[in-house]
Amino acid sequence: MKLIFLGPPGAGKGTQADKVCGYHGIAHISTGEMLRGEIREGTELGMEAKDYIEKGELVPDEVIIGMVEHRIHAQDCAKGFLLDGFPRTVAQADAFQHISDIDMVINIDVPAARLIDRIGGRRMCSGCGVGYHTSTYAGNTCERCGAKLFIRDDDKPETVKNRILVYERLTQPLIAYYEKMGKLQTVNGDETPAEVTADILALTEKLV
Ligand code: AMP
Repeated sequence: MKLIFLGPPGAGKGTQADKVCGYHGIAHISTGEMLRGEIREGTELGMEAKDYIEKGELVPDEVIIGMVEHRIHAQDCAKGFLLDGFPRTVAQADAFQHISDIDMVINIDVPAARLIDRIGGRRMCSGCGVGYHTSTYAGNTCERCGAKLFIRDDDKPETVKNRILVYERLTQPLIAYYEKMGKLQTVNGDETPAEVTADILALTEKLV
């Protein structure tokens, strides 16, 4: 099963991807998390990506495309994968057409006015990178690995505003792109996390 999640920053893509990947036994590929991993490890790619991420800009297409092309051939993608945060531009989507087919693109739709609030409550584990939200978890440490939770630099309000603008300008056109291809499904992301998961699974179960 090969899936893509579309949606603005704060739509809940990461949270939903964890659930859906666990259910179907497919790999969760978060390009944002891969880049943050590269930054933590101090790699050349990480150093290149850091400035873009901190400003809320996109990392250049060629860097991301190469990274994803390599990642989808890993062993854990044998049963399929879910791309969370890729593609983010039409150029990335065009390139991916030559790399792999795709079964379904799920757009998690959340009204723009809700995004800033939702991102304000986000916390991330400094050890394993798993995400939390203050509305559902009040702790300061990760339930999985015990490491401290922190607020991502690019979740600070100044950067979030730019990330939303970048999303509207460069990523939102992908909704029409995949609709034209007959691959697009939309779920209402402004429900409880469990309701959104149920809506997504109702769509993906048809692919099994
Ligand atoms: P995310 O965790 O998906 O919100 O991504 C965090 C940041 O990583 C984004 O704001 C971008 O700077 C960068 N990034 C992640 N995925 C991509 C992508 N597909 N193309 C370009 N930049 C990306």
